[in-house]
Amino acid sequence: EGPLDPQQEPAEQDVESTLRPRRLAEFVGQPRVREQLQLVLHGALNRREQPDHVLFSGPPGLGKTSLAMIMAAELGAAIRVTSGPALERPGDLAAMLSNLAEGDVLFIDEIHRIARPAEEMLYLAMEDYRVDVVVGKGPGATSIPLEIAPFTLVGATTRSGTLTGPLRDRFGFTAHMEFYTPDELELVVRRSAGILGVDLRPDGATEIARRSRGTPRIANRLLRRVRDYAEVRADGAVTLEVARAALEVYDVDEFGLDRLDRAVLSALVRSFHGGPVGVTTLAVAVGEEPTTVEEVCEPYLVRAGMLARTSRGRVATVAAWQHVGLTPPPHAPG
Ligand code: ATP
Repeated sequence: EGPLDPQQEPAEQDVESTLRPRRLAEFVGQPRVREQLQLVLHGALNRREQPDHVLFSGPPGLGKTSLAMIMAAELGAAIRVTSGPALERPGDLAAMLSNLAEGDVLFIDEIHRIARPAEEMLYLAMEDYRVDVVVGKGPGATSIPLEIAPFTLVGATTRSGTLTGPLRDRFGFTAHMEFYTPDELELVVRRSAGILGVDLRPDGATEIARRSRGTPRIANRLLRRVRDYAEVRADGAVTLEVARAALEVYDVDEFGLDRLDRAVLSALVRSFHGGPVGVTTLAVAVGEEPTTVEEVCEPYLVRAGMLARTSRGRVATVAAWQHVGLTPPPHAPG
């Protein structure tokens, strides 16, 4: 846990909602996803039809929840929010579905963690706007089909690979969220500084953006931490020097890697001599859940060119060896 954890911290909800972009035009970056989504939404609006179900996949903190809310806003629809782990019993989902009003957006975060019976109920709901409610138990049980209002399901997942085929097939559009470029993150922090009233100087913005691990949630969090430093230790202005000094205090490294990223690199290089090593073994070595290493940590290390996924396991690249401060062996991939 620290300023670099891309997963949301509970106390963060309020400030995140003030910083959340409300409309598609305010949403920075992800140009492909934005364009594709605009076509999906406006096509349906023009035809006065219910838009297709949409799936957002990608690492945490890249704006999946924001886009779901933006979809509802663009459609002029209400949004109901739930998550895969909250839908353990199919009855919970049935209640949610039968309470939908026509045109509503139903957002299911972490949809890959939905329990199987609820998932099967979702198939029919997505396809025919219907749920089968089972009444009674044992041999006398009957199922009563119940019509529900036409709605659009928006799912978010950090692991589209683990979604079952039948569920994946029922989404009309799947958007893959990419890490943001430093330029895009600079726009994100400038926008947030405007909302929060932070005196953010251009070189301060560049520095925060560069060290934000490609993730808007982290960029916003670092901005708030650097603002604290600027107000307490300086005159309030976020300059390059202030940003650097503050990021030093919060242990954010030159590449924006967090503690877990660095632990994974260090284990890979020092304990496993650069690999190949399986992700589970690597996770055990750093004392983390394999899913966290795989879904949160690895995507960025791969993107940063420090870790390669091969059929035989994870391998440290030349850049990883250098980051740890050791000389790469000749067989390390570039
Ligand atoms: P998780 O899956 O962990 O919930 P997420 O991908 O749904 O994460 P969001 O909650 O949508 O991410 O975004 C996190 C925060 O980052 C938002 O509160 C918002 O302030 C900011 N943010 C995300 N994307 C953008 C963007 N494109 N432009 C501006 N701010 C953004």
